[in-house]
Amino acid sequence: MTAEEELAQIAKEVSGCTLCGLHHSRKNAVPGEGPADSSLLFIGEGPGFHENEQGRPFVGAAGKFLEDLLASIDMRREQVFICNVVKCRPPGNRDPLPEEIEACRPYLDRQIAAIQPKVIITLGRYSMARYFGASKISAVHGQARHVDGRLVVAMFHPAAALHQPALKQSIEDDFRKLPALIEQARKQAASAPTSPPDAKQLSLF
Ligand code: URA
Ligand code: SF4
Repeated sequence: MTAEEELAQIAKEVSGCTLCGLHHSRKNAVPGEGPADSSLLFIGEGPGFHENEQGRPFVGAAGKFLEDLLASIDMRREQVFICNVVKCRPPGNRDPLPEEIEACRPYLDRQIAAIQPKVIITLGRYSMARYFGASKISAVHGQARHVDGRLVVAMFHPAAALHQPALKQSIEDDFRKLPALIEQARKQAASAPTSPPDAKQLSLF
């Protein structure tokens, strides 16, 4: 299966998914969107009102701000993959529950495996927790961490940053670091040794 086919398959499964309670109240599931070969992957928290209406990620005020942030580094949303930790809207935009994040995790894992982004940007606490454990976002935002051969950078959530000047400044500053980090990740990928045979190949011997 190509990466595009796998992403389409995931989107199809997500649209009909009933693995956690969030399916009861959703209007549209929001699998995520973007090119299958994106170097950059953004992971938000979960769909809000507008996302639930349209079935697309980051289409409300936070999405507009994310587009402005991308424009500040000469990028457009069509060039990056954007998704969320949970694919269905938590009622009233409440925080996703641990069991909802857990139930939805395989979809995000599969999206990352299909896309193989060079840099992952986590937006907010819930996607940060995947990679930075119990760290405080105020302590780790803007720092790049190596995970599974790629760079992961935690940033504040644009919805939170939109209304708090200090956080807004912080996410704008963090975005400005992205072009250099993308370049660093590209160089690393180019100089990396060829990957070892996978488990399937090994089992032949
Ligand atoms: N906030 C998120 O975390 N995700 C969206 O898709 C929209 C707003
Ligand atoms: Fe399924 Fe995820 Fe939606 Fe829960 S949030 S119903 S696990 S797609």
